[in-house]
Amino acid sequence: MLTRRQLLSALAPVGVLVGTRSGTMLDTTTMASSQATGGGAAVQGGSRREIAGIYQPPALHWVGDGFRVAGYFSIIPDAVRRLDPFLLLDYHPSHVYAPSTRRRGVGVHPHRGFETVTIAWQGSVAHHDSTGAGGLIGPGDVQWMTAGAGILHKEYHAESFAQQGGPFQMAQLWVNLPRAHKMTAPRYQPLTADGMGQVSLASGSGTVRIIAGEYAGVRGPAKTFTPMQILDARLTAGGLFELSVPAQHNVAVLVMAGQVRVQDAASAGANDFVLFENRGEHIAITAQSEAQLLVLAGEPIGEPVVQYGPFVMNSRQEIAQAVADFNRGSFGYLAD
Ligand code: MN
Repeated sequence: MLTRRQLLSALAPVGVLVGTRSGTMLDTTTMASSQATGGGAAVQGGSRREIAGIYQPPALHWVGDGFRVAGYFSIIPDAVRRLDPFLLLDYHPSHVYAPSTRRRGVGVHPHRGFETVTIAWQGSVAHHDSTGAGGLIGPGDVQWMTAGAGILHKEYHAESFAQQGGPFQMAQLWVNLPRAHKMTAPRYQPLTADGMGQVSLASGSGTVRIIAGEYAGVRGPAKTFTPMQILDARLTAGGLFELSVPAQHNVAVLVMAGQVRVQDAASAGANDFVLFENRGEHIAITAQSEAQLLVLAGEPIGEPVVQYGPFVMNSRQEIAQAVADFNRGSFGYLAD
């Protein structure tokens, strides 16, 4: 069991807390969102969506001793509202780890009130949690963990990967839960590479893997509590990726590789993060070289977000309850 002090020192690294690095509580009330019209997201159609900003990555920081990540949301003004329902994106760009017998990663820690989504492109991670669930996430796989009412969790480089070493590329995305589902029973969705939705783009433009939501009539495997799309697109040089989502849905694109032209208005390169305005629907991205994109789009939940390290609730009182519940051991037990 972690003490409260360990909890704060080990689990509130830069980028885990939204908007604060001091461990003080952040209370950000999001604006009420209007209801989305139409659930289906067409690939084409609608007026052009404006670009809000293109952001270069923040300095990499370590999460535990295994994940060297860029915490993109820490550099986005008003991220809690502008990226709702997404809470955090820690992206680990490709990095070659030497063979090691050392166990790299993050030891036992709690989560409550949201979901962690771990996406692997290179390398392999072993996860375990206090419900007894766990497994390996290898290239192409996604682990979608609903912390809900509370879970203890640990995440390490897989032993087989650590022994061999090699390139490692991952992302962890935190997805908020609406008030009605924050205390849902923990759930674990292992989404393997062979179960992802897949779409081939027209004219040999590339392929889109659908993790969550729908794209071009194909649904991804993830069960979500609110409408969203998470897409992993690989474009050939000259390839065109198009997407239309309702204007009120928040949309951002991480360029993981290559050079792209966004809306024929601006260029973005590898590791740039593109945030779109909530005006217009249609997005067009043209690859100037082979490129890879992580596309995040979702209907804002529009509720107050109060985050304290690994707990994300709607009020300070609920955070105090989470800390009390954690301290008295009600999140269960997980051996490190
Ligand atoms: Mn975790």
